[in-house]
Amino acid sequence: MKFNSVKINRRTVIKSIGASLGVAATASLYGCSDSSSVKPAVVTAEKKPLGIIGKDGRRVLPWSNWSGNLKAQPSIRAVPKNEQQLVDLIKNSKQTIRCVGAGHSWTPLVPTEDTLISLARFRGVKKVDSSTMEAEIGAGTLLSQIGEPLWQQGVSLRNMPDIDTQALAGAIATSTHGTGIGYGSLSSDVSKMTIVDAKGEVHNCSATQNSELYNAARNNLGCLGVVTSATLKVEKAYKLEEKSWVMPLEEALENAPELVTKNRNLEFFAFPYADYAVGLSLNEVPITTPDVEEVQQLEGENPLMTLRSLGDYTESFSWLRSFMLNRAISGIEPATRVNKSYRIFGNIRDIRFTEMEYSIPAESGPKCLKEILDTIKKHNIDVIFPIEYRYVKGDDVWLSPFYKRDTCSISCHNFHDRDYKKYFAAVEPIFLKYDGRPHWGKVHTLTAAEFSTKYSMLNEFLKVRKEYDPEGLFLNAHIKQILGVS
Ligand SMILES: Cc1cc2nc3c(=O)[nH]c(=O)nc-3n(C[C@H](O)[C@H](O)[C@H](O)COP(=O)(O)OP(=O)(O)OC[C@H]3O[C@@H](n4cnc5c(N)ncnc54)[C@H](O)[C@@H]3O)c2cc1C
Repeated sequence: MKFNSVKINRRTVIKSIGASLGVAATASLYGCSDSSSVKPAVVTAEKKPLGIIGKDGRRVLPWSNWSGNLKAQPSIRAVPKNEQQLVDLIKNSKQTIRCVGAGHSWTPLVPTEDTLISLARFRGVKKVDSSTMEAEIGAGTLLSQIGEPLWQQGVSLRNMPDIDTQALAGAIATSTHGTGIGYGSLSSDVSKMTIVDAKGEVHNCSATQNSELYNAARNNLGCLGVVTSATLKVEKAYKLEEKSWVMPLEEALENAPELVTKNRNLEFFAFPYADYAVGLSLNEVPITTPDVEEVQQLEGENPLMTLRSLGDYTESFSWLRSFMLNRAISGIEPATRVNKSYRIFGNIRDIRFTEMEYSIPAESGPKCLKEILDTIKKHNIDVIFPIEYRYVKGDDVWLSPFYKRDTCSISCHNFHDRDYKKYFAAVEPIFLKYDGRPHWGKVHTLTAAEFSTKYSMLNEFLKVRKEYDPEGLFLNAHIKQILGVS
């Protein structure tokens, strides 16, 4: 076992563990892997199981999500070029429709055997209004394509998740978030949206125009229609300084409530079986501050894979596992980076994983995390993947996990090719005990009955859904199950 000989510096662990909990995320046109070969806006296939040859002789490629836990064989994959094509497609559709963003959800929000639409041709920052500090952006724009164009116009997104490979509409559909108790999810920063409903009618909405649609559409789960653009609140362009450091787990749990108020964006990573956590803070620095960019250099194999080997070798010896993990993690050096905000937020994921995340009332965060770590130890659950611990400001989005409460979000992961079920089955009851609400895009086992007790505005959402899609054009089996719609 060569764990001690592997040099684990802070960047390798933060980028590979904290930050690098993941992959080659840019896989295959972001959820629409065949788009480059799709010349017409629509490719059709005979509807049969795994039927892949379309009427015009082209292949309709199967769809799979980022982690590979979901697969589907749509019979039509469509990549409309403009609003008129999209409207025609919806009006003429003889089967149900689902939209795909970048395919970065673990729950079956996207899978369909009918029509799968990608808005990969609705990309780009369309307009920045510096008097209202808003930016209008195409729905299919990847988050990674937003930062620089905004920067050129002197503004930045207020906050971002820890990767930037999602499509904007996909991220908004599930209230995708970053961290920072003063900052809400991306959905909470949306001030206007444009959406095409099941009749092919185009609607604009905001807090003052079609306000019910606006409240529902900011976390729409892809079941109200097709979102074509969103306007987001922005801030004056800013740079961030990222600091990372190791601290004893007890200290992290005790100081979390204070640390979160002292830093613009704060998160930490807790390691199952270890007594240390890695903290990560982001704070604004003057725009003239020179960039400090560490080169991400992995010496030897990816540290997450090293941890995985360590976990395998020590599976039957949890004391040895703790000892070795503590040695490795406590040796991680503190580090600093400075750069444009969007460059600091977006991390690279080069290990695929499966994730469960729940949002619980902010004040319960430390207790809940401690209980999860204790449960892993007590039941000797085979997981070494770090647990991500973040904060999100409460909002007024009807189906947002942060609806009307400041929250702490806790994310549990396991490698994509490892059994995550035992682990998630052990931690989900803990999340529920703390009144947790699951991330809509991450693994959970809840159905409509549970959601109806968690979301006081669910009925209002369902009314809006019915108004804009009375025939259920935009439903799939999963949506029916979680919303209780038949
Ligand atoms: C490696 C990794 C890291 C992640 N990090 C974070 C994180 O830091 N914070 C966080 O909150 N989440 C995170 N997630 C979860 C992810 O942000 C959400 O699941 C998000 O919804 C995925 O966006 P997407 O573009 O891939 O959408 P998809 O997964 O493709 O679709 C999500 C939903 O959006 C709908 N949709 C997509 N486009 C449209 C459209 N134009 N109109 C209407 N509906 C549409 C789909 O129908 C579906 O219901 C992460 C996921 C991965 C794989």
